[in-house]
Amino acid sequence: MDVVETQQGGPGLAQVRRVRTEVPGPRSAELLARQRAALPAGVGSALPVFITAAGGGVVVDADGNSFIDFGSGIAVTTVGNAAPRVAERAAAQLHRFTHTCFLVNPYESYVEVCERLNRLAPVPGEKRTLLVNTGAEAVENAVKIARAATGRPGVVVFDHGYHGRTLLTMSMTAKNVPYKQGFGPFATDVHRAPMAYPYRWPGGPERCAEEAAAALVELIDRQVGAGNIAAVVVEPIQGEGGFVVSAPGFLPAVAEICAERGILLIADEVQTGIARTGAMFACEHEGVQPDLITTAKGLGGGLPIGAVTGRAELMDAVPAGGLGGTYSGNPVACEAALGVFDEIERGDLLRRAAEIERIMRPALAELAERHTFVGEVRGRGAMLAIEIVRGPDRTPDPARTAEISKRCHAGGLLTLTAGSYGNVLRFLPPLSIPDSLLTEGLAVLAAACG
Ligand code: PMP
Repeated sequence: MDVVETQQGGPGLAQVRRVRTEVPGPRSAELLARQRAALPAGVGSALPVFITAAGGGVVVDADGNSFIDFGSGIAVTTVGNAAPRVAERAAAQLHRFTHTCFLVNPYESYVEVCERLNRLAPVPGEKRTLLVNTGAEAVENAVKIARAATGRPGVVVFDHGYHGRTLLTMSMTAKNVPYKQGFGPFATDVHRAPMAYPYRWPGGPERCAEEAAAALVELIDRQVGAGNIAAVVVEPIQGEGGFVVSAPGFLPAVAEICAERGILLIADEVQTGIARTGAMFACEHEGVQPDLITTAKGLGGGLPIGAVTGRAELMDAVPAGGLGGTYSGNPVACEAALGVFDEIERGDLLRRAAEIERIMRPALAELAERHTFVGEVRGRGAMLAIEIVRGPDRTPDPARTAEISKRCHAGGLLTLTAGSYGNVLRFLPPLSIPDSLLTEGLAVLAAACG
């Protein structure tokens, strides 16, 4: 009965919000029951409706509901879902060959993705890029390279940081439940510094950058010893941590602290990178040039690929055979990544991300004016968030956050939550979303806030 079953995704999909059933609808509920019987309980979904097509600014489910997409599969389909150049290039590659293993036989598309990232990344000097499959793998490899290049073991990360679910990256991740609980023992030599989180800095936002930099120096010089630290790993805007934009001046201070001590700076741009914030990399907003940058998510337009881009002399510190993996830089994913670069260039998507901020920010600011529980509006480009609080002491309010999110979902708007306290609503629309859906999505959000 349902035309949706055969509907094609991509930008040709009808760009409408349509809620035909309760959410999740009966077909999704049926599939969810099968999921519960077949998958472990540890795999959950933010909005458990089963998707049959997606593209432009919508995702369509098995009951024919069409949701405005403010999530992009957690910042992955930045150029749009089933974006034409991504789909065409990946499909053509599927018919040529699906895999050789780059460790067995190389192919040109891998080299081309690396050349493109080397040209684009704000890393100084000559550069090299390694391809992997996921964000966690990118971060883990960046740390391996930093250790090999410096001969030092230590890694410094920040409060509220998220870097992945593998043993090392889970150890680097700040939040215990659900990412770490029960999964120890953790990797050693991971040290955590306070994040320059202006909204929650005890001394106030004005003193945030300076005091957080001083705390980092204290950790490095007194507690760990600079000579024991390979790298400081920082997200220029924290993703899972709640879209925390560090206080202006903090990132340049971190870069300087690292440079003075021979510590490498790794920017984890897995969530912020590849046009999301209105620049190719979020570091560029602060003029910071890290030694190594990790990317994934938006890089493949939905296909699994990640990368480490870094200064040539560091990247080359690992001898042949020390890096790689069976699927790393899979040829279909490489073609998808080349399609992503094309979409960004031809669609002028850096400008589009900035434009999305210009449309969304005033609407979010209005919510903050209307409701005292909207404590802060923050983010950059198409990576924006509101923090939900209770009372003058800014107590995090995860219950209200979940309630607003639920109402958005019931109203046909896909939103995601984030934050160490689960009290941040984050918005990551695909850059292919039409203005009309952005505005409509913001109206659904406003109604959900009451
Ligand atoms: N680093 C950051 C900043 C991330 O946001 C994420 C994913 N949310 C990761 C690393 C891990 O990426 P993946 O899930 O692809 O392993």
